[in-house]
Amino acid sequence: MEGGCTCRKLRYRLSGRPLIVHACHCRWCQRETGTVHALNALYEADRVVHLGDEPEIVDTPSPSGRGQKIARCPSCKVAIWSNYSQAGAAVRFVRVGTMDDPDSCPPDIHIFTSSKQPWVVLPPGARAVPEFYELDAMWSAESLERRRIMRERAQRQ
Ligand SMILES: [Zn+2]
Ligand SMILES: [Zn+2]
Repeated sequence: MEGGCTCRKLRYRLSGRPLIVHACHCRWCQRETGTVHALNALYEADRVVHLGDEPEIVDTPSPSGRGQKIARCPSCKVAIWSNYSQAGAAVRFVRVGTMDDPDSCPPDIHIFTSSKQPWVVLPPGARAVPEFYELDAMWSAESLERRRIMRERAQRQ
């Protein structure tokens, strides 16, 4: 799967399926996207390969106080992924709307629904939590295994 920004100078290729896809309804994501929620597919950093220009990394405040690094096209400034302090540089939160086929990554879970805009109605049966969740309870066995490998690699570096 490939994707990129609007001016097409920044292109990326993703390998495999995301670890999980979050629809985040927090106010911060609402402000940063200008819409009702962010839609992020989580990938190990080495599964997100840049094909064209390298992104510009923009330090952006986050509710934790520890900041978020948002990767943007150096020309048109569209955001394509970000790093949050909790997961660090190892995990890229890829903006699903920048994928060439965004329909292929519907949310696995809706988070921070405590601040969901009231007119947004979630599909019946959708997994949703008022704030965040325990990874061990929500991630697939395959994704948890990928996380274990990622952590092992991080310790070796
Ligand atoms: Zn661009
Ligand atoms: Zn959010």
